Amino acid sequence: MDRYAVIGHPIAHSKSPQIHAAFARQTAQDLCYDAILAPLDGFAATVADFRKAGGRGMNVTVPFKLEAFALADRLTPRAQAAGAVNTLAFGGDGILGDNTDGAGLVRDLTINLGCTLTGRRVLLLGAGGAARGALLPLLAEKPAVLAIANRTAGKAAALATAFLSGAGETQLSACGFDALAGRHFDLVINATAASLADEAPPLPPGLYAGGAFAYDMMYGRGDTPFMAAARADGAVRVADGLGMLVEQAAESFTLWRGLRPDSATVLAELRRQLDAG
Ligand code: NDP
Repeated sequence: MDRYAVIGHPIAHSKSPQIHAAFARQTAQDLCYDAILAPLDGFAATVADFRKAGGRGMNVTVPFKLEAFALADRLTPRAQAAGAVNTLAFGGDGILGDNTDGAGLVRDLTINLGCTLTGRRVLLLGAGGAARGALLPLLAEKPAVLAIANRTAGKAAALATAFLSGAGETQLSACGFDALAGRHFDLVINATAASLADEAPPLPPGLYAGGAFAYDMMYGRGDTPFMAAARADGAVRVADGLGMLVEQAAESFTLWRGLRPDSATVLAELRRQLDAG
């Protein structure tokens, strides 16, 4: 039986084993998928042990995505752009590092939620790992405008500079939250960690254009603080990041097994469990 695992610290909360077990059942793949807690100073050694024991691939979560980037022998272009790795594939020619988070976000937005990005005005809030990982897949959708706004404006500016050469026709810019006053967007994506502190990012009012969509990478039961604030400020549709979680897992599964699972049924089951509490 082929072995896979998610590695992190902490890890007990991870939904990845449940998601991948469902994908494996669905596609009749003979594999097992565990959760592995690595010591904070023992990421590379834990990966090496898993590989030696016959492991075929790993998902990597907080706080090891940068170490996984450094560990990989080869990187996909999207992992290179993200500067972080959430998926490792072990082969005879070494370790391949990929980053499926941004692709998972874009699949959730465009396929599950039917939100068009092409030609739209998109605002990305945050300049941490999740925002960085989202930039290349978002730019590939060719939005008219992609503005990055962050509490620390300098970090947003650095991200915009790093991605400018790949922006094509998209108007890529960066600023702090206050400088958004008077601007309007069709889609606002929250990639800040503010929801973890039960807060919404402090945004000026009136950001949402008619029919606008608000998306929080964070997920949970009911609205996150960002989703509630977005509704109050005029967003017509809001969604959380549960679909992104399932879609990034589906991307990893596809890389490892060469076939794409049906993410919709797995997402529906996870949503049912989350809502049931
Ligand atoms: P990082 O720690 O790398 O970045 C955190 C970002 O949030 C920074 O831009 C930081 O701003 C900003 N921030 C933190 N607190 C606040 C606040 N109170 N108000 C405004 N801005 C704040 O985190 P990640 O990028 O890894 O993760 C961000 C979010 O995305 C998390 O909620 C995470 O759970 C979610 N996520 C979801 C995934 C999914 O599959 N659904 C996958 C990956 C991430 P500053 O630079 O000023 O410090």
